[in-house]
This record gives sequence, structure tokens and C-alpha cells, in this order.
Amino acid sequence: MPVRLPFRPRRDAYPPDLWTKCPGCAEMLFNKQLDKTLRVCPHCGHHFRISARMRVEQLVDQGSFVERDADLAPVDTLGFVDLKSYPDRLLAAQLSTGLRDAAVWGVAAMGGKRISLCVMDFFFIGGSMGSVVGEKVARAGEAAVAERIPLLIVSSSGGARMQEGTYSLMQLVKTMSVVERVKAARVPFISVMTDPTTGGVFASFAVVGDVNLAEPNALIRFAGDRVSAGTIGEELPPGYARAEFWISHGFVDRIVARAKLRDEIVSLLGFLIAPINGPTEPAPNPTSRPRAFFSALTGALSPDSNGESHPADTAAPRGGTTNG
Ligand SMILES: [Zn+2]
Repeated sequence: MPVRLPFRPRRDAYPPDLWTKCPGCAEMLFNKQLDKTLRVCPHCGHHFRISARMRVEQLVDQGSFVERDADLAPVDTLGFVDLKSYPDRLLAAQLSTGLRDAAVWGVAAMGGKRISLCVMDFFFIGGSMGSVVGEKVARAGEAAVAERIPLLIVSSSGGARMQEGTYSLMQLVKTMSVVERVKAARVPFISVMTDPTTGGVFASFAVVGDVNLAEPNALIRFAGDRVSAGTIGEELPPGYARAEFWISHGFVDRIVARAKLRDEIVSLLGFLIAPINGPTEPAPNPTSRPRAFFSALTGALSPDSNGESHPADTAAPRGGTTNG
């Protein structure tokens, strides 16, 4: 007769390494099953957030992704400390995700067509955009222009990275100036917004794709409800800031379930082709360049100026990154 111990530790009925509770319908989902459905709840269709690596695996032709600048790492320029120091926060995120920062970029093939791909990872400090994320987005865009291949960016971000202060805000200008070059070179740019795409990422490259796709129910907005409502002095409409709201307002072109996302992008790549003999660089137009604008502004503000640009204006720091 087996001996029954009275104080055996009670086994957790749903160990978290095996089961995940769906926030949409509260069903307990078996992790292996969830992986088979691309981490989408089979009961209610809730799209779980996924890592950049998993996203790349789900989208591109198997084994075609060649990562670039994997060793690009952030530096703590400001000596920033909140509850933890920024280096400690970075180290914790690097250990838990296996990434150096919150984005991965490289070249890959989708449906046999070569693309330049940048994917953000929300699990790395909320997918926040500091110098490294901005630089990776910019380099993905530059590669797209240089190689005349479509640019695909999958966003998943809480916005600019507080710990890098102004350096993070500079990434908005940097990424947008590259997107402008991509557009001027007539290279296609597909943006995929996943849950969440907010703050500085929403306010820069995420919503300016030639085609803007979004996953169902993805949170897409610049600021939180309280700030947004306070700014416009009005109550926000129901369903505000979800992908379904934006599609009815023209910000999002299509809402695509994760299971169909790869096929949808492959199909779009069939329509959006960079002209072979198109421009690799935009025609020079000094009046529309941000730096020219700032130079002109400084000239206008400076009493001793005769309209020439100052040395400070010509410095274009790409800011705060190191290789290695
Ligand atoms: Zn569910």
C-alpha cells in the first residue's frame, strides 16, 4: 500500500511554463498549442505579444534572415538612474531577451523576394526607442535604398526611451529622414503595427508606410487616454486607439490576423516593386532638408548671422551608440 505523505507540496494546477491565461477570454491555454497557433488564442483570437526573434521566424522564408549589426549596443550617456541605473536595466533586459537592444534588423526573403527588415521587441524595456533602435531602423532604411529592396518594419513599442532623454527624441528625426529617402528613391515601405505601437514610434515612422498594416485590436496611439483627452479638452470616443478605430480614420490600411500576415505581405510585395532604374538618392532639395531648416532658423535667430550656417548646425550626431 503506497504511503501518502500528509504535507506533500501542492502542485500548481497550471504551471506558468506550461500554461498561459488568455487576457481576452480567461481560458487557460497550453503553451505548446499556443505556439502552434502563432501565439493567438484559438478561442477569442487574442494576439499575444511575441519576441522579435519569433516574429522574424513567423514572417520570413525559413533560414533566409541574415541579421546585421547584432552587436550594436546602447551606452548610458546621461548616467541615468530611476529605480535602477540604466546599465542595470539594460543588463536585465539583455539577459532576459538575449538581445543587445529592442530591435533586430537584417535582410531576408519573403516569398522569394529580398527585403530589408527591422523588427522591434516589446520585451526589451517596452520596445522603447533609444539610439540603437533608431539607428537600426535607419540602417534598415538605408540598406533598402542602397540595394533597392522593399523595407518592412514591424513596430512594437511604448515609445521613446526615457533613459536616453534627448538622444531618444533625436531618433524621431533620424528615422523619418531615412524614411523620406526611402520614399524619394521610390522603394516600397510596408509598416506593420502590432500591440502596442505608441509614443515616439507612432509619431515617427510607424504610420507613414506606403501600406500600413496592423494586427487585430493592437493599441496604436501617441499618448495615454488622460493626456490625449486633456490636450483636446474632449472625451475620447469608444474604442479609441485600437487598430479597428484607426482603420475607420485612414491611419491603418488593413487589419491582418497573424495567421495571414506573412501571405498578405508576400502578396503586397508582388505589387510594390522598386523600379530598377529609379533614383537611389532623392534629388537635392535644400529647402526641404531638416538641417537646412534648422540652419535657416538659427540664422534668423542669431543677431550676428549673415545667413551662413554655424559649425554647430553641421554636426549631425547619430548619437550614443557603440559597436561591440
Ligand atoms: Zn482567448
